[in-house]
Amino acid sequence: MSDEFLAKSLHEFDSLPAQRVRALERFGLGTVDELLTHYPRRYEDRTKFDHFPQQESDTPVCVCGTVVKTSEKRLPGWKKMFEVTLEEEQPHALSEPLICRWFNVHFVQKMIATGQRLVVYGKPKLRAKKICIDHPEFEIVENDDDVSIHLKRITPIYRATEGLNQRVLRETIYRVLDKLRGMEIESRLPAELDSMGFGDALRQIHFPDDEAQLANAKRHLVLTEFFAMQLFVGAKRAETISRKGESHCGRGDLLTRFQKSLPFPLTGAQQRAIAEIRADLAVPRPMNRLLHGDVGSGKTVVALSAMLLAVEAGFQSALMAPTQILAEQHYLNFRRMLDPLDIAIALRTGSRTEDPLPLLSGEPQIVIGTHALLYEQNTNFKNLGLVVIDEQHKFGVMQRARLIEQATAPDVLVMTATPIPRTLTMTVYGDLDVSTIDELPANRGKIITAVRDASKLTEAVAFIREHLEKGRQAYIVYPLIDESAKLEAKAAAQEFEKWQTLLAPMRCELLHGRVEPAEKDAIMERFRHGETKALIATSVIEVGIDVPNANIMLIENAERFGLAQLHQLRGRIGRGGHKSYCILISDATNAEAIEKLRTLEETSDGFKIAEADLRLRGPGDILGTAQSGLPPLKLGDLLADQELMRLAREAAAKIFASDPFLERAENKRFRDLIVERRKLTFAQIS
Ligand code: ADP
Ligand code: MG
Repeated sequence: MSDEFLAKSLHEFDSLPAQRVRALERFGLGTVDELLTHYPRRYEDRTKFDHFPQQESDTPVCVCGTVVKTSEKRLPGWKKMFEVTLEEEQPHALSEPLICRWFNVHFVQKMIATGQRLVVYGKPKLRAKKICIDHPEFEIVENDDDVSIHLKRITPIYRATEGLNQRVLRETIYRVLDKLRGMEIESRLPAELDSMGFGDALRQIHFPDDEAQLANAKRHLVLTEFFAMQLFVGAKRAETISRKGESHCGRGDLLTRFQKSLPFPLTGAQQRAIAEIRADLAVPRPMNRLLHGDVGSGKTVVALSAMLLAVEAGFQSALMAPTQILAEQHYLNFRRMLDPLDIAIALRTGSRTEDPLPLLSGEPQIVIGTHALLYEQNTNFKNLGLVVIDEQHKFGVMQRARLIEQATAPDVLVMTATPIPRTLTMTVYGDLDVSTIDELPANRGKIITAVRDASKLTEAVAFIREHLEKGRQAYIVYPLIDESAKLEAKAAAQEFEKWQTLLAPMRCELLHGRVEPAEKDAIMERFRHGETKALIATSVIEVGIDVPNANIMLIENAERFGLAQLHQLRGRIGRGGHKSYCILISDATNAEAIEKLRTLEETSDGFKIAEADLRLRGPGDILGTAQSGLPPLKLGDLLADQELMRLAREAAAKIFASDPFLERAENKRFRDLIVERRKLTFAQIS
């Protein structure tokens, strides 16, 4: 009943003028639900206006006054200024009039006239010895209704638009909320999270009685959004788990042989992750697991261990890399590590296919390729048991889903290049089980990071030369200016020439995306053996390169790289016993770039960097909502409200644990939330 009311089109309300409803519709507010979840962006406490300001301030003030004078002035250079003088309603001895000014705005002077009462919000500034607010937010006080809707209360301020001003929007929401009064609205939360009821929460978020009620309402509605998201995530997970799977786990002899062939013991965290994966492989239910950990924490060995368990059980294992270069690097890496074990490995990328040596005839046991290729060519596989998806920094959520939809689902391990903040493991990756490698191998050297402007390049070069002369090696990284082949070649040639001169007579080599694979291998081989002292490279060296003797990295125009990418690049050094140095060259002046680089100076902890990266990129980027298929958030803040997300997740998990397809009568309301409101398919529910 009440949900029908929420779904109603605003056209059905005769009391609302048709023209206004059309304007609301254009603004994306066509139904009651859409209108009432158009939440205020801030509030003004109009129960007590501020006194007129007497000095400048960076905190905005909210005042109410009467217009005593308006004037228009022409300024040099085509500028027009409209000036309004306000007087405080109950002036006291020290009150000064307040000046509000608008420059080159035409509509304002048509709206404001002497004698009107205005509510004004903005930052007071001192201009020509007078206190002014330039381009304030303002509202004209009109009639008696104002007292109940617009004044003498904590007043909501909305995101408004042309043809739909603050007052109209506020009044419409007020009237529609009024119709909701007395209606029993079905809660969208389980009882344990439900503190005030959905209807009250909506009323209080728009027209709060006081600050405490507002805080309650906000908490309630954020929980409602998060819980809906967790229902969605939980349904996806329930669906995956219910699919037909097989056990893909060998006895472990092959794994033991592999681990014995490694020149190092596994860390505790690696062993834990392998044990978690092994348990998943063993049960006849599709694994859907995320493996994450810091750069250099040794994820590859863990992934390979899982692949060997599946191989031993007689299944093929595949590794999907996001790019061709990465696929090739994994391939070389795997071939080296698997050399003692006689495993048949194949490489499949758009331009290069390499099959196992003929003496290991038959199907490859391990296939490495790019995402695109492996998704397209199911024929590549005879009996795929395990897929490892190396996602890099991308969230290939939809593609993952497609893979899981195969008749008999393979086990899936998603591996990321850097740690995933908790916010994301609870949402975008919320349908996956999580294995975290939270420990670095013991032999890692310390990395010192410093940001320098380009004028310090000479000193940096001297520093690098000093270390090269002691026998160390260096990476010089420059950003790609242009992706086009011609410009790339030119930029590369210029960079190379410059550095060769700077570091002469030390041997330098150049590596970028367009170097032929065979040549690339040869270059890397010479660097690995120490014949080449400095590698001038693009971010192709981001992943997979592992030369412990290289302990210096200089990154030019560092601000052009993303935070996660810089951390990943830096992970190429600090791999041997030597103290390592990362020099970030940048002349950036914008605050965000400066903070990004400072974060790297301050910490090498990938978990902290991942959090900072999210904060800097902001919530829009976090969810990649379109891609993830998750319901959008209008009120909740994934970073600030993490604790509420955890509560919502726990509550949803409890429900799914006892009723995975939400079939029980008491869970019908939740099922409806997923199926109808989100218009999503929930395959198990017919
Ligand atoms: P990432 O987690 O960044 O993918 P890698 O898997 O590339 O890290 O591992 C980084 C380097 O550390 C590789 O040279 C790898 O052989 C080595 N390594 C992995 N595990 C250990 C360990 N337990 N002890 C010492 N070195 C290790
Ligand atoms: Mg890796």
